[in-house]
Amino acid sequence: MSSLKYDLLLVRYGELTLKKKNRKMFIGKLVSQIERALEGLDIVIRANRDRMYIDLENEDAYEVINRLKHVNGILSMSPIIRLEKTDEAMKENALLLESTFKEGDTFKVEVKRIDKAYHLKTHEIQQLIGGHVVKETNRSVNIKHPDHTIMIEIRYDGIYMYSEVYDGVGGLPLGTGGKTVLMLSGGIDSPVAGFEIMRRGVEIEAIHFFSPPYTSEQSLEKVKTLVDIMADKTGVDIKMHIVPFTNIQTTIYDKIPDGYSMTTTRRIMLIIAERLARKIGAEAVVNGENIGQVASQTLTSMNTINAVTNFPVLRPLLTYEKNEIIQKAVNYGTYETSILPFEDCCTIFKPKQPKTSPNLDTVIKYESNVDFEPLIEDALNQITTYTSKNEQESTEFEDLL
Ligand code: ATP
Ligand code: MG
Repeated sequence: MSSLKYDLLLVRYGELTLKKKNRKMFIGKLVSQIERALEGLDIVIRANRDRMYIDLENEDAYEVINRLKHVNGILSMSPIIRLEKTDEAMKENALLLESTFKEGDTFKVEVKRIDKAYHLKTHEIQQLIGGHVVKETNRSVNIKHPDHTIMIEIRYDGIYMYSEVYDGVGGLPLGTGGKTVLMLSGGIDSPVAGFEIMRRGVEIEAIHFFSPPYTSEQSLEKVKTLVDIMADKTGVDIKMHIVPFTNIQTTIYDKIPDGYSMTTTRRIMLIIAERLARKIGAEAVVNGENIGQVASQTLTSMNTINAVTNFPVLRPLLTYEKNEIIQKAVNYGTYETSILPFEDCCTIFKPKQPKTSPNLDTVIKYESNVDFEPLIEDALNQITTYTSKNEQESTEFEDLL
């Protein structure tokens, strides 16, 4: 008897099925994301209206599943064995699948008979294969709540058999929901916020405020690594716009009273993020804020910060518990990088006692003593852009701004 060797991977789309009108576009986006995630592997993709088959050639099914685990728009995946169309082949492979089940687990057989020419009817196949497994292994059948279902599909190009189902992240394929600017620090939260917004099919370009020499090259490398991880997991290229922020930070440090420096820093970050967003055609800014977590994230504080703009600011992590965010960071694969101990620009200029309820009129009064506008324009003009995949920096933005 041969051991299990999978020929295909079945990919189920999930929510996408609901969007009848846009289905073609959604599937197209999903296919290109999958191709990107599987780059370098020898596979062939066949996408139908409601499911997709990936021909594995000689690739390992679990390697492919692992690479697709974070691709948005995939509900679940099953590795499939394709057999010649005989009863014997079904019987033999049913036992191979059965041998992967835990002792004591129950099973049932489910049959889809697409090729009506096959010599046995649906219930006959069910009885034949179910009966064979019971006879050979003594395993119990449970029709209502089986631990495992042996799926048999009688198709024109062969018999497909499988029993394993692996969850995908669900959500919607990237690129189907517009574009946003993600405020990306080196912390735990903002990369998770990026993953969460991408789950809804929304593309991101990241913005990172960088204050050399107060923040090191290593801290920048760390953020680039986070961008690479996000790109890798979701199967898209991600850009990060790096804003030189030193002049603004030192000016704030000199000119704005300590308790309000954090508020002004955040306000200026938001102004710059909005302007960048408008330039690149993004429709919202996304950040990793979480209600009540730190001084800058009380409702009053968010209000005072947000007052600089009418632009939508999305906060996907707003109501999560910290440990939920950490768990997500672990799952998405960013946690280990996020906890590396390099300072980010805000840690270094952190006021001793930031106001938890900064008053809007007060901050406006303090800011009116400083001409931030030329500094903001300078910072925007000096943006450099890092792209996840080819790891190149360019100053392409200078031409646009
Ligand atoms: P994070 O773990 O994402 O850093 P946090 O809980 O530490 O979040 P803050 O450091 O107060 O919170 O930052 C709040 C949000 O502001 C971040 O989630 C991020 O979106 C944005 N942000 C902070 N620092 C930067 C930075 N240097 N560049 C870009 N965005 C930043
Ligand atoms: Mg932080």
